[in-house]
Amino acid sequence: MKLITEGNVNKYYAQALCLLFFPTSKFSESEPLLPSTPVVKMTMTEVESGVRATVKIKTELGESYAEAFRHYESSEPLSRRRTEHIALGAAMLEAGSKLFGDTPAWGLLTGVRPAKIARQYIERGLDDKATARELTANYLINPKKAALLTAIARNEHNIAKTLEDNMCSVYISIPFCPTRCAYCSFVSYATKRLLSLIPAYLERLHRDIDRMFGLIRELGLRVVTVYIGGGTPTILSAEQLRELLEHIGCYVDPSDLRELTLEAGRPDTITAEKIAVAVGCGVSRISINPQTLNNAILEAIGRKHTAEDFYRAFTLAREGGVKTINCDLIAGLPSERFSSFSRSVDAVLKLRPENVTFHTFCVKKSADLIRDCTELYLRNGGDTSKCVDYSQLKAKNAGYVPYYIYRQKNTVGNLENVGFALRGYEGLYNIIMMEELHSVFAIGAGGITKLVPKNGGRIERVAVPKYPYEYLDMDKNPEAMYAIYDKIRKFYEENFK
Ligand code: SF4
Repeated sequence: MKLITEGNVNKYYAQALCLLFFPTSKFSESEPLLPSTPVVKMTMTEVESGVRATVKIKTELGESYAEAFRHYESSEPLSRRRTEHIALGAAMLEAGSKLFGDTPAWGLLTGVRPAKIARQYIERGLDDKATARELTANYLINPKKAALLTAIARNEHNIAKTLEDNMCSVYISIPFCPTRCAYCSFVSYATKRLLSLIPAYLERLHRDIDRMFGLIRELGLRVVTVYIGGGTPTILSAEQLRELLEHIGCYVDPSDLRELTLEAGRPDTITAEKIAVAVGCGVSRISINPQTLNNAILEAIGRKHTAEDFYRAFTLAREGGVKTINCDLIAGLPSERFSSFSRSVDAVLKLRPENVTFHTFCVKKSADLIRDCTELYLRNGGDTSKCVDYSQLKAKNAGYVPYYIYRQKNTVGNLENVGFALRGYEGLYNIIMMEELHSVFAIGAGGITKLVPKNGGRIERVAVPKYPYEYLDMDKNPEAMYAIYDKIRKFYEENFK
């Protein structure tokens, strides 16, 4: 599509707004302008004590125009920049809604972490009703989503209060899977040749565990959550898993550690022996992810396990004494309809996992699935929107509370991902990560350490190479490795004196 901007319009924000009505569009400057190419023109003009934004959309369907005016306010969270964003977003929403007849449920919120915005109001002392009202008025979110966001932000706010400045978390990456799912967008090795790298990878990982935990100790930090993610960490043998967990156990203080998660993910990798090892070594939370309990759809998305595998793995985890079990489901999988998805929701909730996370299908890379996923192009999400509503309502009625949320680009209907928990079982690492409550130190290929300063300020990221073979190659270039630790040290010297 063609995007034209005039005045003080942030190009990236303008593109994000366009995606609300033109999902999956590309913004190439060099593409020829065809009669079928949608054109959006956005302008921003300074007027007395405020800003006026206009949006004009031209498509094959017709043309639409809207304008919005907003006063600048000096008080946070409505900074000058945010006021401009709101004005431009309001104009875009009105112009798009006039043309397409649908108003996006999330209004102007285009970012990954919408609960952060709600939390700003809560931290200013607003109660839940007033927070939801502000979200609806300023961000044009529909009241149902505003209430959901407020409930999540309130929960997060209460949990954030229990954290202290000298706390941190650790992420450990195991980027290997038994086979590759058709919709996967992660770097995860799944072929026989690549899986043969696991022993060398673990050897390297153990050395980095020594270095990173050593640094955490040197900085005087207390580790409150550890998340072993992937990939599929339970692809490791029981013995490899034991060595890894015992090694981590040498460094964490059990009186500080509030959560140790092992992402099992694929039910086909879970055995009684691995569960016994995990529980024996202090794992408190395990993710077992069916995605759907419809075997035909599991096969179609190349998931290589069945609903029966999931039930078997769930029983092993339950009988093995795992404190918190999380189950992921995905709404909007290609060719899955509401009747099938709702059966999966009902069946999973009946098992009473402590956590259940409802994702919306997100197509990133797989061209085959993009072709099949016609609903991705529906602005209102079609059947998937009904699936998302159903999952949230059923979870709420079954006594679960929503505790974290994130949004991604290219999800069906621009819908959200929400984690629910039985009260007291909220996944702490998920909240910390999503709300950037403190630093998370990453170990292993593809890991990104996030350094969060005290009292706001700019978050810094330090990345480890993405692919396991690059990670293994770092041994040839120890300076690059030490540069990571030096950067972390420097950040703490500057921000936590
Ligand atoms: S289990 Fe997850 S990480 Fe592994 S291939 Fe499937 S979607 Fe990708």
